[in-house]
Amino acid sequence: MKILLCLWQLPQVLLAGIVIVFLKMRRVPVKKEYYKGIPVYWYTMDTGWGVSLGEFILLANRYNETTVKHEYGHTRQSLMLGPLYLLVIGIPSAVFNNLWDRLFHKKWTSADRSRWYYNRLPEKQADRLGGVVR
Ligand SMILES: [Zn+2]
Repeated sequence: MKILLCLWQLPQVLLAGIVIVFLKMRRVPVKKEYYKGIPVYWYTMDTGWGVSLGEFILLANRYNETTVKHEYGHTRQSLMLGPLYLLVIGIPSAVFNNLWDRLFHKKWTSADRSRWYYNRLPEKQADRLGGVVR
């Protein structure tokens, strides 16, 4: 069953492997914990991001429990979408939400940016699936 799941989420699993190897090669401290059976890799960097790839969650250590829940929502999206996850969730999240926000919302307050960000698909759905109440 684990092998079928790995094949279903193969693009995400491969990308997660690359990111984890990259963090280890750069000797970034990484602490592994579990959330609802999903490994969460907390890494220590001044700036950082959070991402859910297949059965892996990678988070900079500045994030909190709410972000873990949100990423767990993305984990559930990945389960549902399988090979389409990066196309439907990953790319829109990275390009249209993150990049768009950084380019066009520079003058917004961080609260307004956060509200805008988490009201967009697929972020709103990830919150709902992860049980996040904002
Ligand atoms: Zn998200």
